[in-house]
Formats: sequence, C-alpha cells, structure tokens
Amino acid sequence: MYSPRFILQGGKRMVTPWEHRFAQRTQRMKSSAIRELLKLTEDPEVISFAGGLPAPEVFPVEEILEAATKVLREQGSRALQYGSTEGYTPLREMIARHTSRYGIDVTADNILITSGSQQALDLLGKVFINHGDRILVEAPTYLGALQAWDIYGAEYVPVRSDNDGIVTDELEGALRTGPKFIYVLPNFQNPTGVTISYERRLKLVELADHYGVPIIEDDPYGQLRFEGEHIPPIEVLDSQKHHNGSCYTGNVIYLSTFSKILAPGLRLAWVVAPPEVIRKLVMAKQGADLHTATFNQMVAYEVGRGGFIDRHVELIRKVYRERRDVMLKALEENMPEGVEWTHPQGGLFLWVRLPEGMDTAELFKIAVSQKVAFVPGAPFFPKGGGENTMRLNFSNATPEKIEEGIARLAKAIKEMLVK
Ligand code: PMP
Repeated sequence: MYSPRFILQGGKRMVTPWEHRFAQRTQRMKSSAIRELLKLTEDPEVISFAGGLPAPEVFPVEEILEAATKVLREQGSRALQYGSTEGYTPLREMIARHTSRYGIDVTADNILITSGSQQALDLLGKVFINHGDRILVEAPTYLGALQAWDIYGAEYVPVRSDNDGIVTDELEGALRTGPKFIYVLPNFQNPTGVTISYERRLKLVELADHYGVPIIEDDPYGQLRFEGEHIPPIEVLDSQKHHNGSCYTGNVIYLSTFSKILAPGLRLAWVVAPPEVIRKLVMAKQGADLHTATFNQMVAYEVGRGGFIDRHVELIRKVYRERRDVMLKALEENMPEGVEWTHPQGGLFLWVRLPEGMDTAELFKIAVSQKVAFVPGAPFFPKGGGENTMRLNFSNATPEKIEEGIARLAKAIKEMLVK
C-alpha cells in the first residue's frame, strides 16, 4: 500500500499527518472508555459514581506535609537524587514485613516498587506477553489491565464470576487453552465489588499448579474490608505449597498499591514476586522510567514506619463503609423491580444488573442529562456481554450526594423501562 511521507499541497511538500508514522502496535491502543465518559461528568452539577476515586476528605495531608518536610530537612539531597530501580530499600523492607504479617515469608528481594500498580501491569505485559498469548481473566475484569495488555497483543480467555468470585468449576476448560497466566482480583473486585471465596482461592491455586500456569493477583483493595473474615491472599495459599526458606519462590505474582490506603497522587505501588521475576521486571522498568520517584518513596516510608497507615486505614474503612451502607439503602428504596446489585464487604465499588435487554450505554445518556453518572459495564468484558450492567463507585461522593444520585439514577432507569 502506498503510504506517502510527504504530500504535495499547492506545489509545496508538506509533511503527512502523524497517523502514517505510528507503530503498528498502536493500532490496538484504545483510549479507556471510562476516561472518555469521565469527561462528560466534569459538570459540577453531575453526581458521579463513575470514577474510582478515593474520598478526598481522607487524604492525610498534614501527615504527608510533616513527612515531606522531615525527609527534605534530614535527607534532602538523597531524596532529590536518582535511586535504584528496585526501589528505596527501607520502603521495600517495610512492605516485606507487612506482607509477612499474612503468613508468607518474603524479603526485600521479593519486592519491586512501581509507579502505581498500573505500571506493574504494563511491565508484566512487557516481560510476559508475546503477540497472541492468551490471558485468563475474570469476566468482568479490571479495564486498566486490558488496556495495558492489549498493546502487547494479548488475547483473553474470560471465565464467568458470581458472588463468590471466579467460577472455578469453569476454569479447567479455560486452562486447557494454554494461557500464559491467570489474572484475578481477590478482594472487592473492580468492577463488581465481589471477593473470591477461600474455597475458590484454594481451587485456583491447585488448578494453576496442576496446569503450570502462574497467577497474577491484583489486590489494591484488600485492606479496605469493612466486615466479614479476612481471607488469606492467593499468594499466601500458594506459598504453603511452595515453601522454600525465607524467600518466596512460588507461582503467584502479587500486586498492591498505596493509592487506596494513602494517596493515588503519590503513584506508589509494589509487586511481590519470586526474585527472578523481580529481576526481569527491574530491567523492563529501567527502560520505562529508571525508578519510581525517590522523594515519594521516602515520604511514604516516613509516613508508614511508625504504623500510621494501619491507623489511617481504620478511618478509610469507616468512611467508605458508611457510604456503601447509604448507597445500598438508597438502591433498596429507589430501584424498580428486576434491578439487582452486589453487596460488597469492602472496597470502592458495587455492580448493578438491570433486566436483560436493557442497555446501560443508552441509559448513560439519559442519566447524564439528569445529572448523574456511572460506568456502563460492557467494556469490562473483554469478549462482549454485560450490556445490562454498570459499575457504581461509593467512595467519592458524600452520603447526601449518594442519596440524591441514586434517586436520580432510579428515575432514569424507570424512564427507560417505560419506553
Ligand atoms: N488494579 C486495579 C484492580 C485497580 O482498580 C487499580 C486502580 N483503580 C489499579 C490496578 C491501578 O492502581 P494504581 O496505579 O493507582 O496503583
């Protein structure tokens, strides 16, 4: 095909549009459907349940100010210098101690600090995904992972999930397609708010082991449990099978982040993985950004080292629990018959299912005109489906706004039902 680098315009040589120059892989790049929708919700009159934003009221501004001042006063030149790709060692050691609390032996050699978990997802794509590789995912799953991996040419094998998480009875067929890895969100999943039960976690570990397929466990919300029993991370269950001294060498790569327990603007997260995986990710990260901001890492360490984050998480749980309760009550009071929703025990999101045949992308237009927004569910399904579903965020809006917003949403749904 003829693709000119220059075009003639009025006898002059003009540079062609940029489209001709982009690499082939960019053809698979899509702007996140959610980010596009969020633009429509910038109107301050709109009550938005669309984003995944923490409550700004719970950001520990004073503590971060104090820590930042201390870091600059006492170790200013170190904080402003380049650092190692693996991350700031005291922070990695703090995370290793934190992870070990759950009953898994890890050392700093198991930890890589990343610029958000989103970067960890991208780096994992970079080091694991060949064009055409299959990734086994929950349906629905986290949109940001699909966005990170599409560019590496990933294909997806979706497995249904219900109120106990991924349906492990349906896993074997998917595992027989030879996926490169399994990607799951164990706690209060984004988008559904659902948690994978203990029994299913065990089954997942057993099947992954049997088929020799690694698991990526993406757990940004695990600490935000409002009620019910803590369930051991999949990596912990796996480590009981693969116990090997003081360093984790098993089949699971675990991701978590400071975004939901401290502040997302710090862009700080971590990967827990066997050392050879960490080494490969380190090389990939060197090409991406050399290392995560030294200053931010030192501030997070300073904030966290005296146990502040543990106490702060208590406050976040309290605030989000109240907001979840307000949203559940408002749904109960306002929604017409035939509408169902999940009852998450933590996290930031719940998931609503409208009667079959209804389309939440259509509903979105009516809802925005009535000044309320949500995220239509279909983009969370990599192979289609879910047109009658939506994700609601309950962490960001105040209780009063949640009540008003759900009333508006119910009104929009009722209008669409009579059409
Ligand atoms: N994974 C999941 C499941 C998420 O929900 C998010 C953020 N909403 C991320 C990863 C990325 O988090 P961050 O980059 O802020 O650490």
